[in-house]
Amino acid sequence: MEIQELLQEKLGISIQEATNAQVYYALLQIVQELAKEKEAPEKKKKIYYISAEFLIGKLLSNNMINLGIYDEVRQVLARNGKDICEIEKVEPEPSLGNGGLGRLAACFLDSIATLGLSGDGIGLNYHLGLFKQEFESELQKEMPNPWMEEQSWLTKTEVTYPISFRGLTLNSRMYDIEVTGYNNQTNKLHLFDIDSVDETIVKDGIRFDKENIAKNLTLFLYPDDSDENGRLLRIYQQYFMVSNGARLILDECTARGCNLHDLPDYAVIQINDTHPTMVIPELIRLLMERGMEMDEAIDVVSRTCAYTNHTILAEALEKWPVDYLKKVVPQLVPIIEVLDDKVRRKYNDEKVVIIDRNDVVHMAHIDIHYGFSVNGVASLHTEILKETELRPFYEIYPEKFNNKTNGITFRRWLIHCNPRLAEMLDRRIGDGYRTNADELEKLLAFQNDENVLNELLAVKKENKKALCEYFMKTQGVELNPESIFDIQIKRLHEYKRQQMNALYVIHKYQEIKAGKKPSTPITVIFGAKAAPAYVIAKDIIHLILCLQELINNDSEVSPYLKVVMVENYNVTKAEKLIPACDISEQISLASKEASGTGNMKFMLNGALTLGTEDGANVEIHELVGDDNIFVFGASSEEVIGHYAKADYVSRDFYEKDADIKAAVDFITSQEMLAIGQEENLTRLKNELLNKDWFMSLLDFREYTAKKEEALKAYEDREAWAKKMIVNIGKAGYFSSDRTIAEYNRDIWRA
Ligand SMILES: *Cc1c(COP(=O)(O)O)cnc(C)c1O
Repeated sequence: MEIQELLQEKLGISIQEATNAQVYYALLQIVQELAKEKEAPEKKKKIYYISAEFLIGKLLSNNMINLGIYDEVRQVLARNGKDICEIEKVEPEPSLGNGGLGRLAACFLDSIATLGLSGDGIGLNYHLGLFKQEFESELQKEMPNPWMEEQSWLTKTEVTYPISFRGLTLNSRMYDIEVTGYNNQTNKLHLFDIDSVDETIVKDGIRFDKENIAKNLTLFLYPDDSDENGRLLRIYQQYFMVSNGARLILDECTARGCNLHDLPDYAVIQINDTHPTMVIPELIRLLMERGMEMDEAIDVVSRTCAYTNHTILAEALEKWPVDYLKKVVPQLVPIIEVLDDKVRRKYNDEKVVIIDRNDVVHMAHIDIHYGFSVNGVASLHTEILKETELRPFYEIYPEKFNNKTNGITFRRWLIHCNPRLAEMLDRRIGDGYRTNADELEKLLAFQNDENVLNELLAVKKENKKALCEYFMKTQGVELNPESIFDIQIKRLHEYKRQQMNALYVIHKYQEIKAGKKPSTPITVIFGAKAAPAYVIAKDIIHLILCLQELINNDSEVSPYLKVVMVENYNVTKAEKLIPACDISEQISLASKEASGTGNMKFMLNGALTLGTEDGANVEIHELVGDDNIFVFGASSEEVIGHYAKADYVSRDFYEKDADIKAAVDFITSQEMLAIGQEENLTRLKNELLNKDWFMSLLDFREYTAKKEEALKAYEDREAWAKKMIVNIGKAGYFSSDRTIAEYNRDIWRA
C-alpha cells in the first residue's frame, strides 16, 4: 500500500484535518509494523550488547530513513500541508544515557542491524531518564524527564523473571524497542523494568526515597551516588540489569539449541564499561544452578564475555565495597571470592587482585581476568591502557588487548541531521557513501572546484541560519549567522575543560573592552549537563551563564562576541547544533578523553577541529593532516609526566601570565558578582588557582593562540571551504559501520 493510503487508513480522517500529534502516532504505528516485518531470522550465534545507557535519541525519522520511507512520507505530508519537522517535535526524547558512552551504544545497535548481524541491546527502562536540565538564576536545576507515553516505541513483552536481592524479590518485565538497520533487518533493544515503579514518589525536582527499591528501582539513570543509599541503589540497578540479561541470554541460547557447555558458540556478551560487570558472576551462578560445575562455568563465561573500557579517570573506575555487595546481592559474594582466590593463587601482584586488602571489589579487574577481550576506544587510549593504566594486566594477557576506535552512525549524524549536506553529496559524489562511508573520499576530487566550495559554504550558511531561528524560538536569544560558530557541546566535566573555553571568552571580552575588536564576530556556544552532585561542574555552568548574561547585554561587546548555553543538551539539540558549526571544540586535557565521538560528528558535518592530541582527535589529525585541523597543548606524555611528578602548580601560571591573571580574576569581578552568586564564583576561582587538576592554565596560552589562528583562517573563505572538504572527505573512517565490522572480525565472530 502507498504511504498516503496507509496513513489515511490509520488516521481515519484526512491528513490535512489531523493534528501533528495524530500524524505522529499514526506514523509510529506504521513504522513499527514495517520494522516488525524485517525482524531478523535468528542465527546460531548472537551478540548481546549490555549497557547501562542507550542514548537513542528520537526514533521516528531515523527509523523512517532506515526503512527507506522518509522521503516519501515527507512528500506526502508536504502535499497535505504538514511539515515533517513539526511532526518530529511531538516525539519526546528518551534520556536513557548520559553522554558519549550511551550514544555509542545507540550508534552500535544501528550499525549491528545495518550490517545484518544478529545482535540485541540489553539495558534498563528508566522512567524519568537522566534528568531534564533547566536554567534558573544562572544555575542548573534538575527536573524529571518523563518520556514514556501511552503509545510509544516501547512494546511490553510477556518476558518476566523473579530477581532476588537480599530480603527482596521483584518480578521484572521486559520491554522492547525495535532497532531498524539501514536497508536491512530489524534487531531489538531489550529494556528491563518492574511493574511497581512509582513516579509519584519523586518530589521537589529529582528527590525521592532512595530506600524504597520496589518503587524507585528504574526511576532514574545514575541516581545521585553521593550517599550510601544512592550507591546501594546503583548496585540494585546493575544487578537487576545483568540478572535479567543473563537469564534472557541463557533462555534464548537454549531455545536455539545450546546445551550451555557450548554457550560461547551461541552468544557473545559485550560489556559496555564496568556497569554491567556483575553479569560475569551472575552467569556463573545461573549455570551452576542449572547443574554445571563451577570451574567449567567460569571457563564458559570467560569465553563468552568481552569488555570495553571507556575511561582512565581513576574516579570513574568502579569499585564496590564487599559490604555493599553483601547488603544487596549476597549470592554473588562467594562467587566473586572464588574469582579473586583464583587470581591470587596464580599471580602474586596486589595490583591485579579483584578484592583488595580493604575489601573493595574492583569491577574492571573481574572483566579483564574473566573476559576474553579488553578493548580501548581509540588508539591513543588503548596504548595508554597497555602502557600505563592497565599495564600489569597487559603483561599477563597481551593477547586480550585490542583497539576499536569509536564511530558514529552516518544515518543520524549526516543523512538525518544535515539533509542539505546529504543532498549536495548525493548530487556530487552519488549516494554510495550512504552504505559505504569510504566513498566520502570522492569529495576530495573537488578541493579546487570553486562551485563545490561555494556550495558547501552555502550549505553551512543555511544551517547556521536555521540554528539562529531555533535559538530565537527556544531560548529567545538572537545570534548572528554571519559570525563564526564556535561550539563545545558535551557532558560537563573538568577534564573536558569547558572552564578553559570560558576563560577564553573572558579574555576576548577584555580585549574587546580594550578596543581590540575581532574582524569577524564570534559566537561561542556551550551545551552540557553537570552531574547533580558535581559541585565544580555546576559552578562552571554558573560561570558560563553569567558570562552569557553579561556579554550579550553589553552593547559595546555583543556585536563582536556572544555566548550562549543551550538548555538541556541532548541528542535532538546536538542534531541541530552540529551541522551549523564552524569550529569544533575538543579541548580535553591530553590523555583524559578516551575517544570522543562528538569530534567525529562535527568533522563529518564540515566543522574544523580545535583540539588537543587526545582520544580520537589524534586519528582525526592523522587523517586530515596538519593543514586541516588546529592542534595545541601539552602532549599526553607530558601530562602523564606532570601527574607522576606532581609538579604542576596552577598558581605559577596565574602569577607569570598577565592575561591568565586578568581572566581568572574576572570570575569574581564586580560585574560578575552583580549577576552571579559569590559563593559559586569564588569557589570556582579558588579551584583554578589552588588545584586546577585538569591543567586549564597550563594549556591556556597555546589554546588562545591556536584559536586566534583558527579565527584568522576562517577569513579566507575559499581556503576554509577546502579544509571542510578534507574533513568531510576523510570522515568515512569514523562510521560506526567500520567500528562494528572490526568488533565482529576480531571479537564477536558472529
Ligand atoms: C555525541 C554525543 C555526546 C558525546 O560527545 P563528546 O564530545 O564525545 O563527549 C554526548 N552527548 C550527546 C547528546 C551526543 O550526541
